[in-house]
Amino acid sequence: MSDYTLLIRDIADFPKPGIVFKDITPLLADAGAFAQVIADMAAPWRSARIDAIAGIESRGFILGAALAQTLGAGFLPVRKPGKLPGARVGVDYELEYGQGRLEIHEDGITQGSRVLIVDDVLATGGTLAAARELIECVGASVVGASLMIELSFLDGRQRWQGDMPLHALLRY
Ligand code: AMP
Repeated sequence: MSDYTLLIRDIADFPKPGIVFKDITPLLADAGAFAQVIADMAAPWRSARIDAIAGIESRGFILGAALAQTLGAGFLPVRKPGKLPGARVGVDYELEYGQGRLEIHEDGITQGSRVLIVDDVLATGGTLAAARELIECVGASVVGASLMIELSFLDGRQRWQGDMPLHALLRY
């Protein structure tokens, strides 16, 4: 098995000074590494009866769509404001600097369906908490979250309350 951590590169001061951005594009460009990451992210959820993957814009779309195919689930895009064409529900949340907002189609998911939230990086945890609030507010059931990377020094995991599973493939 290839060591796919070698294909994640750090870009200093992007998108802002002081942020070290985890760039996964070299990993996505490597067919074997991409397939291995998806297999490894899917493994903990194989018997979790996931109906839908909620992928967070935009790298959560890439990983989430591949995971949806692997787990036999549908895909729900969780988008930044003003992108979805139909009737939407949204949630505002705090970013490190300023406000963020996530939206889904209000009819995008069946009530009671079992949803796994997917994104590339867990940093402060605000994005993941907002996605969870949004999915729960349309009556679906969040069963967990799957991240490729957890920046554990930012302690985003403590915002993911309760004993709901949160799986991260790699920790820094
Ligand atoms: P947070 O809400 O602070 O957990 O931030 C998570 C969101 O911001 C995810 O959608 C990530 O894609 C992105 N993000 C935050 N920090 C980084 C980082 N250092 N490298 C890459 N993406 C990041």
